[in-house]
Amino acid sequence: RVVVVANRLPVRVQRGDNGELLYSISPGGMVSALLGVRGMRMIWVGWAEIDDTTAAEREQIRRTLWRREIRPRFSREMQPRRRLCEDSSACEPVSLPKSGARLHYAGFCNDVLWPLFHYVTDLRSGFHAQWEAYQAVNGHFAAAVARVARPNDLVWVHDYHLMLLPGLLRARQPRLRIGWFLHTPFPSLEVFRTLPMRKEILSGLLAADLLGFHIYDYSRHFLHACTQLMGSELSLESRGIAWDMPLPAAGGGGGGGGTMRHSVRVDAFPIGIDPDRFRRALDAAEVKGRVLELQRQYAGVSVLLGVDRVDYIKGFSTPNGRAGIPHKLLAMETLLETHPQYVGRVVLLQIAVPTRTDVPEYQKLRAAAHELVGRINGRFGSPGYAPVQYLDKSVDFAELAALYHTSAALSINRLGMNLVAYEYVACQQAAKGVLVLSEFAGAAQALEG
Ligand code: UDP
Repeated sequence: RVVVVANRLPVRVQRGDNGELLYSISPGGMVSALLGVRGMRMIWVGWAEIDDTTAAEREQIRRTLWRREIRPRFSREMQPRRRLCEDSSACEPVSLPKSGARLHYAGFCNDVLWPLFHYVTDLRSGFHAQWEAYQAVNGHFAAAVARVARPNDLVWVHDYHLMLLPGLLRARQPRLRIGWFLHTPFPSLEVFRTLPMRKEILSGLLAADLLGFHIYDYSRHFLHACTQLMGSELSLESRGIAWDMPLPAAGGGGGGGGTMRHSVRVDAFPIGIDPDRFRRALDAAEVKGRVLELQRQYAGVSVLLGVDRVDYIKGFSTPNGRAGIPHKLLAMETLLETHPQYVGRVVLLQIAVPTRTDVPEYQKLRAAAHELVGRINGRFGSPGYAPVQYLDKSVDFAELAALYHTSAALSINRLGMNLVAYEYVACQQAAKGVLVLSEFAGAAQALEG
């Protein structure tokens, strides 16, 4: 059995208008990424995203998630997700106190770690309370894993939300096999070392047996951080690191029990896509029909496609602040300004998937993008022609495949791995669109040239 531990469960619990509990499938890349994992029994441990529950409701949620009673509505393109949830429908929800969950997720994770791991280094005041919440939430997760993990289980911890968890689990169950995978970049030493609690985080991770990163550069950054920040008790081995791991004192608790030489393997496991799923989609009648419609709609016009979550990492930071999608819009404006022959002949179709919409930083980004779309369309548009078509929503799989297939180019100007780049390539056939991929995207290491 594999115990998958992630901040969020693949099933989300929300409260309906009449106070009833509603179950649906969590959106997000991680559930998509784990679609490829087959042939293992998975028990998920994670936050069910509802925090104002009574003790009786918590018990009800827990029973429901364990009894495979979840039957949310699935659209056709969500079928693989349904399979994932049914195969692995045992979910252990972690209940978190409301303010602690907010300080952990919106606070330390999204306000401190996420920007730092994407090279945005402006640590705000107030991060001490967020750090305390981060430690407490990792502790809640450790208790939840302890409720379900058996000695021979493999525990697979995911992402930057749970970097203390390997250490906490190791202290409780020394023989547990623990892996951790990071779904973001790991920054270079100069950036990582600005985090005051860098050593605690590295110690938490180094208690695992296997640490995985998207690409070799990120694992190298991690190894460099360990050798520079963890002191002389650590040595590099051919496939990872050996160090003197502190042992809990007899009777539990952190530290005080001496040390044990512990080896952890550190490696790159580039995440990918199932390209056949996209190739098959292009043969489906629904997608073929949609491709014809799009070709008619955009006859004589080249479509430049953008598919991004509205995040400041999707586009580079400017010296005076974070840019994100607005940066791509400014590039479009410059193109039309400097190459007027393209006015009327080119369209930027930007799918801007809303994300973290309750965070002020993200609200500002969205507003800045809207303002630019208005400005560019006002300057260069005409009746029947809007140079920027901006959708504040996600589109479904069939629509995305059709858009990938018909557009002239797709540009990716972001940090992080980026699956959209692979998906775009998988959807090209005889007439090939152009992928403009930043060298800073993780996918650039796989798509050389
Ligand atoms: N995606 C989608 N609908 C959309 C936009 C994106 O289903 O309207 C999917 C896309 O196919 C891809 C994922 O969302 O699989 C985004 O993954 P990526 O690694 O490119 O970016 P991130 O996870 O950082 O958002």
